[in-house]
Amino acid sequence: CGITGYIGMNDAKEVLLKGLEKLEYRGYDSAGIAVRNEDGIHIFKEKGRIADLRAEVDRDVVASVGIGHTRWATHGVPSKSNAHPHQSTSGRFTIVHNGVIENYSLLKQEFLNDIAFESDTDTEVIVQLIEKFSRDGLDAEAAFIKTLKLLIGSYAIAMLDTETPDTIFVAKNKSPLLVGVGDDFNVVASDAMAMIQVTDSFVELMDKEIVIVKKDSIVLKNLQGTIINRKPYVAEIDA
Ligand code: GLU
Repeated sequence: CGITGYIGMNDAKEVLLKGLEKLEYRGYDSAGIAVRNEDGIHIFKEKGRIADLRAEVDRDVVASVGIGHTRWATHGVPSKSNAHPHQSTSGRFTIVHNGVIENYSLLKQEFLNDIAFESDTDTEVIVQLIEKFSRDGLDAEAAFIKTLKLLIGSYAIAMLDTETPDTIFVAKNKSPLLVGVGDDFNVVASDAMAMIQVTDSFVELMDKEIVIVKKDSIVLKNLQGTIINRKPYVAEIDA
């Protein structure tokens, strides 16, 4: 399973799909991408191979920001509806997640009784919680952090918010995730191999850190909101 993300000047689709292909070795049962342009969020997902996903992706949708995912199902059978990305009910938030949320069922009972879920995944609880807390008045980053503090388990997460269009929100706990630094673009990936063709400069995330990724900046914080300064390292891999 794996995650990719791209924000920059070029078309995101190909970077996301190529990155997912490089992560195929990790194993998966389904795959998907979400890209955003002036028309909104476009989601493509498929059970099966990345090649099947490629066939599904509409070439005419051009977008310069997006997130990608390969899923190894832990909660909910491998299927198109359980494949990521998953969206909150209003469509405002879109996320991909690798890992397992151990307390998803308790969180659902406590906070999300009135929500009609579209999938059987633990992941959908994350995105619905973020929407719930944003409806309660928090901005996207605060709703994201409040949700992460409630999660017990492992996660690598990348998220889009239609109301913060120039941003990918990223978080990690006990599942690997890196942010790759480029010139006028930045990327997100489960491992450097996925993005070595576009950059060799990566910032490693530690557990319970988030990153606010824009095309020309990355801001790393802990869940208390304190900014963390960490220099990128140079990955030495043959592309
Ligand atoms: N637990 C999530 C699911 O079953 C994510 C699985 C993964 O790591 O790919 O959808």
